[in-house]
Amino acid sequence: MKLSARLDLIKPSATMAVNEKATALRAQGVDLIDFGAGEPDFDTAQHIKDAAAAAMRAGKTKYTPVGGTDDLKAAIVAKLRRDNDLHYEKREVLASCGGKHSLFVAFQVLFGAGDEVIVPAPFWVSYPDMLLLAGAQAQLVPTREENDFKMTPAELEAAIGPRTRAILLNSPSNPAGVAYTEQELAGLLDVVATREIIVISDDVYELMVYGDFRLGRVLQIRPDFRDRTLVVNSVSKTYAMTGWRVGYTAGPAHVIKAMSTLQGQMTSNPSSVAQAAAAEALAGPQESVQPMMREFGRRRDFVVERLRTIRGVRCPLPEGAFYVFPNVSAYLRKASGPTTGDDLAAYLIETAHVAVVGGSDFGYPEHIRISYATSMQNLERGLDRIEDALKKLD
Ligand code: PLP
Repeated sequence: MKLSARLDLIKPSATMAVNEKATALRAQGVDLIDFGAGEPDFDTAQHIKDAAAAAMRAGKTKYTPVGGTDDLKAAIVAKLRRDNDLHYEKREVLASCGGKHSLFVAFQVLFGAGDEVIVPAPFWVSYPDMLLLAGAQAQLVPTREENDFKMTPAELEAAIGPRTRAILLNSPSNPAGVAYTEQELAGLLDVVATREIIVISDDVYELMVYGDFRLGRVLQIRPDFRDRTLVVNSVSKTYAMTGWRVGYTAGPAHVIKAMSTLQGQMTSNPSSVAQAAAAEALAGPQESVQPMMREFGRRRDFVVERLRTIRGVRCPLPEGAFYVFPNVSAYLRKASGPTTGDDLAAYLIETAHVAVVGGSDFGYPEHIRISYATSMQNLERGLDRIEDALKKLD
């Protein structure tokens, strides 16, 4: 059967491909250490699961309004007020089947042929392909490792062209854990202030920051951007709920209405039971978040320190999320060894049985992404294995 030409535009998600390979090796009985995971290794909190079970028992097993139940919308509105000091009404928020779906629907209603969207690199693998499926294109802005992968106002200014419709910000970021302070973000927002540029803030890691780092937030810095900003978020990462598939968008009512129209012809509502769980996650006790972040913080410190002991590996200290994005160029292009971070990732999974993701699909082929969403013991063993495997390339 012939496939649509649309498929020629995109490629399989690199992170999903690593997951599949890791699963296949595990099924063969290989003692695989998985640093590929894009999800917390913690369980969803019991009170959230209980809310889902209660919803099922109460018969909440039917279609809901496309953009989410009244309860979920109320919980989203309350969360935005509590955590972000943002005041939205229910008609200005929409729940979708994960943050990925929220972004996909937003891109479809906002962008079309010829539009360009500024995406700082390294970037989350799905952005460029999702933009292509909307007929638009990512205008990638490479950032410097020496600057901790932070885009500067000058770099942003230079990237803006006549077709620029929007800027996509993701702070903290996947894959490098880059987080912008208020001052840094204000500098970027100043650049777009005098132009008709939409700001899409992918906040899925917003509560996952370390120590006393104070995260800059678009609408707190520029309340006057409310009519041109979409805030996208998800319960996936913060509440260890990746499998439940609930994300949400807050923005101007007419954009939310358009997204609801599209979603109504696409997926309709996210799962009714998952919505009940998401409402509890957002509005219920928040006690599960801090212990998880304390543990992630411990692991982050260990992983960065350990990587820095490996000769030639460079690794900035991420301020947020649960990934590090080390530069492995010292081990590339040696004799018949790997030439890119992707080759190195293939080498590591084959020879050391450690799964990491190569950097190409994040825009940086000389890097690999390591997720520390796994136990400290796995981190110790896996990093030992990586060091041994790298030594063999020397
Ligand atoms: N945005 C970023 C930067 C991500 O890393 C992810 C998931 O990996 C998402 C959005 C989407 O997450 P979900 O669809 O699980 O809400």
